[in-house]
Amino acid sequence: MNLSLPQALFESFSHITVPDIDQLNQAHQLPPVVSVRLNPAKPSKAYADAMSVPWCPEGRYLDQRPNFTADPLLHAGCYYVQEASSMFLEHALKQVVDFSQRLMALDLCAAPGGKSTLLASLLNEQSLLLSNEVIPSRVSMLTENLTKWGQLNTWVSSNDPKQFAPINNLFDIVLVDAPCSGSGLFRKMPDFVNDWDMDTVHLCSQRQQRILHDIFPSVKEDGIMVYMTCSFCEEENEDIVDTILQQFDVDTCHIDMPAEWGIIETKSPAQQGYGYRFFPHLLKGEGFFLACFKKRNSGEKPNKLDPNRSRKNKTDLTSLKPYVDIDNKLGLLQNDQLILIESAHAEFAEYFAQHLKVVKKGILCGKVIRGELIPEHELAMYTKLRRDIPAVEVSLEEAVRYLQRETIDIECPAKGWFVVRYEGHNLGWIKNLGNRMNNYYPSHYRILNKNILDQI
Ligand code: SAM
Repeated sequence: MNLSLPQALFESFSHITVPDIDQLNQAHQLPPVVSVRLNPAKPSKAYADAMSVPWCPEGRYLDQRPNFTADPLLHAGCYYVQEASSMFLEHALKQVVDFSQRLMALDLCAAPGGKSTLLASLLNEQSLLLSNEVIPSRVSMLTENLTKWGQLNTWVSSNDPKQFAPINNLFDIVLVDAPCSGSGLFRKMPDFVNDWDMDTVHLCSQRQQRILHDIFPSVKEDGIMVYMTCSFCEEENEDIVDTILQQFDVDTCHIDMPAEWGIIETKSPAQQGYGYRFFPHLLKGEGFFLACFKKRNSGEKPNKLDPNRSRKNKTDLTSLKPYVDIDNKLGLLQNDQLILIESAHAEFAEYFAQHLKVVKKGILCGKVIRGELIPEHELAMYTKLRRDIPAVEVSLEEAVRYLQRETIDIECPAKGWFVVRYEGHNLGWIKNLGNRMNNYYPSHYRILNKNILDQI
């Protein structure tokens, strides 16, 4: 690789001293670090023994980039391919949030879902994560990744930050992984260098301020807001920390960590707010920035919803009993489709529907026809799908052909619906009609590369 970092980038540093700029340049001649984060709710053999990421117990470094698409365990949601530095979010959140509590969380800029899947794995079942993405074309990718992660308590919305205005003082955690000029990812995406300039940095900085201004009222008092970018620029990092501390009633949060991790702690020039910087020549990861803030308590009443008002679409769950434990669960009916949610989240279904465009709630289970469930893919991905439902275990080759949505010729002991399993992990549904087997893997998720089996 022959990658030159723009001179204007270094000239833009006015308060932060970047140690060993020559080494930073040299690090950009090396390939990017490859890492994944394991799904604790779907433990598998995939990368379990690989080297851990120091700041994230489920993070793993890989020696090289495998053909992830060809691995059925990726499609089963056993792990997520995520840049290692950004997994620091877990370490930071664990210091400032009590995850034993029932929490309401918002990931405002969520696609493709790296931070959302990380946060979802930290929250308990009573807690709820709303993963939001404003750009419509990116929502499907976010929904697919969260479907694979398989949790009941992760919902998806598609709204501009402005549209959260009526939702005041509600979220205990708000993640703002802001759109940025992307200099921290030059090594992963070298073409970004050609489009990078300081005008883009200024525009990004203005947009970041607008986003924060729009969303801050939704943070609950005593709640945490985490601001993140993958930019090296002060204007998008420490200067934004100053803006947050100047404009909002918050305290900066200090994060403890061992010095040997190589993360640089910075202080914003005017307000001395803490920030945490990741440079690829000082640790195993790409460029990243994170700062945490705690909203002060002014005594304003928290946004308490009425738990009884949202039960009008409630439906019977009997047909789901063979598939899931329905204790403390609630069924909602939407366009003839049965949706399973935690009973504790009922109040949010209608409240969010009033203000937001919610595109995924809980687990979409399927249609009930004459008392029988026609199962949906989301149900197969659900981490709590019962293990004793009819299932067929397939080989690697059969699994890949199933994921390509081809007809697979496997032995099923009876007619009806079966979940397809690879190494014990659910991939989706097939239906045995007796004379043929129908593949119900969603066509929009299928592996398009027809020759992928030759590349394994
Ligand atoms: N959090 C994601 C993850 O970990 O996978 C990455 C988020 S990416 C850095 C920033 C996201 O912000 C993009 O998905 C982008 O579409 C979205 N975005 C772009 N403009 C936005 C805006 N004006 N308000 C909110 N989000 C925006």
